Amino acid sequence: MAEQVINPDLNFVKDIIASGGDTLKKCFQCATCSVVCNVTPADKPFPRKEMIQAQWGLKDKLFSNPDIWLCHQCSDCTAYCPRGAKPGEVLGAIRKLSIQHYALLGFLAKAVGSPKFLLFLFALPAAIFLIITISIGSLWNVPRGANGAIVFSKLIPVNYIDEVFVPTALFASIMFAFGILKYWKDMAKNATQASGSNIISAIIATVTGILLHSGLKKCDLTKTRCKSHLLVFYGFGGLFIATNLSLFYLYGLKWESPYPQTDPLKFFGNGGAIALIVGITLMILNRLRNKEKAGLGSYFDWLFISVIAVIGVSGTLAQLLRLAFSKMAHMFYRATAMVFAKYSGRGESA
Ligand code: SF4
Ligand code: SF4
Repeated sequence: MAEQVINPDLNFVKDIIASGGDTLKKCFQCATCSVVCNVTPADKPFPRKEMIQAQWGLKDKLFSNPDIWLCHQCSDCTAYCPRGAKPGEVLGAIRKLSIQHYALLGFLAKAVGSPKFLLFLFALPAAIFLIITISIGSLWNVPRGANGAIVFSKLIPVNYIDEVFVPTALFASIMFAFGILKYWKDMAKNATQASGSNIISAIIATVTGILLHSGLKKCDLTKTRCKSHLLVFYGFGGLFIATNLSLFYLYGLKWESPYPQTDPLKFFGNGGAIALIVGITLMILNRLRNKEKAGLGSYFDWLFISVIAVIGVSGTLAQLLRLAFSKMAHMFYRATAMVFAKYSGRGESA
């Protein structure tokens, strides 16, 4: 038998424990988790082997192991584990550390995973927009329309928002692509078997699986997760289309908002927002309902869920309030005029 050199990293074990995998050491390698997992391949199944690799601190083996990302954290294994070792949660913690490991700007990935930096992460974009409003003077001279009402769209003109977000999104995408490339190289270096398919058919099969969420459909305990994930996934799809349509309208057609409610942009935007809000609500309810058996999830999971919920709710409220205020202003002005007409003795029309 070939000799294997093991390089344990005890700090990595501590990191897993601190990232939500605090039950890690309870595992006694019974393999029940690998038996009940409906997602794992039969050959070298997970998550039992990952549990021992994690206990031994085999960081490099775990990070270059595609199996940690084949897990959908459905928690079937956690529900059946006789020791309460919560393998689903442990794999979730390893995935979080893997993102930090491959991120080119590791400190930003660490900040996202730690509650200590929550305030900083929200304060940073707020500070950027405060600086913009101060520098263009709209904080002191609030832009107003002909009727004296504040024109919110001119507080920070759209081009300033785009000039901040488009380069930031491009920068994040490039950093992300470098991280993914590094991860692919590590997997290829440590692969124990020759490739079994060509890359194009592997990509087509993967994209089809993602579009249908076929992996999640196999899970038992949290079956409803599939519906909520699909709603969130396609909700984001609708919002992505709406965002690109708005860019096309603004910069391609030179057509500024507001757009009519019958426009395709509104169809994708509103439909996407509804799907996102319903999906994320189901996701939260599902987690709370199964918290005893499946675990409540880590800070990282809840930050992600909360950010999605806030995006969906704040975007929808912004539109509803804008509509409501324009209609309500209309209603109040009309009612005031009617009261004044009656008060001043202005007669009814014949
Ligand atoms: S995580 Fe639980 S079910 Fe899996 S091998 Fe360890 S003790 Fe057994
Ligand atoms: S959480 Fe679900 S998919 Fe992941 S290892 Fe456990 S049973 Fe398998």
